[in-house]
Amino acid sequence: MGLLVYRQKNSRGGFKPHIGLKFRSKEGDVLSFVVDTTRTPQKYPQPDAYLITHAHSDHHGSSAMRSERAACTEKTAKALELRHGKNYEGNLVTENGEGEIADVKVRTYSTGHTEGSVAFGWENENGVRILVTGDVKDASNLPKCDVLITEANYGDPGDPFCHFKDDLEAFEEVLFSEERVAFGAYSFGKAQRAVQLIRQMGYEGPISMESTSLELTRSLTHEAGELVDIGMSEKVSIVPPHHLGKLSSSISKYVLSARQDHPFPSVCLSDHLDAPGLVDMVEQIDPEAVVVYHPTGHRPSRFASHLCSLGFEAISTENISNVLSNEFL
Ligand SMILES: [Zn+2]
Ligand SMILES: [Zn+2]
Repeated sequence: MGLLVYRQKNSRGGFKPHIGLKFRSKEGDVLSFVVDTTRTPQKYPQPDAYLITHAHSDHHGSSAMRSERAACTEKTAKALELRHGKNYEGNLVTENGEGEIADVKVRTYSTGHTEGSVAFGWENENGVRILVTGDVKDASNLPKCDVLITEANYGDPGDPFCHFKDDLEAFEEVLFSEERVAFGAYSFGKAQRAVQLIRQMGYEGPISMESTSLELTRSLTHEAGELVDIGMSEKVSIVPPHHLGKLSSSISKYVLSARQDHPFPSVCLSDHLDAPGLVDMVEQIDPEAVVVYHPTGHRPSRFASHLCSLGFEAISTENISNVLSNEFL
């Protein structure tokens, strides 16, 4: 199809995260775009682009952000800067827009996973449409493509933890209960989702937040309303899950998660599609080939084999036999 999917070795002999793509552009240049990976040391040849789908640490923007060949959205760059205290030195792409990366016309499509998260789509010299999604919560915005590079965070259809549905009713009930409530939510991603939902549900009072969550939400979330530091009397607070235990015992505490293994009750709210949702996404995108590149562990291979059983051509990262070292980028 005119696309080489490869993994890279790092200088210690292990595999670098996550995946690299080599292709010939419409101008006839052979280019490498690497996805959600760490920066190659400067003494080695550099890829033409470091695509950063979003600012979660397992996508390694904290390393790639220092390269002038990085590409991500403005919100992802902002989140990386706030989270890691470093300047973003790469290129910016508009969310749901079109731009040029290494002279290739690239479109981005928001995936609803975090503030600023996008999929990247482009064509090689033969017009083969390549789409790299990163993590996905909402696939409705994603286009059809020929080669889909995607995730399987909850992609094992045989695992009961990979089947869930956001429980917005429970969330709303807790939000409008008489008591003071605190929601446990990770400071980047879940905390902003929680604030957006709280405002959509019509709660207009101040929301108190732990300082990192507060700074990220103030900078990234549109119409977040009044956000304040953790105080004594706010009706609604949002703190990282491990901070819940430090709050006053008079506050009712819930973790916003699809998982149930927290010391406080969960309200099911996920930043991801579950296994059936990921299958629906692939069916909608209708690719000729699928590469499942994330996360580590067995879920990508389980998701890939499930896709094969449904008639798709699919592999996961550990079955990619093309391995390049730093010297041969
Ligand atoms: Zn993520
Ligand atoms: Zn991820």
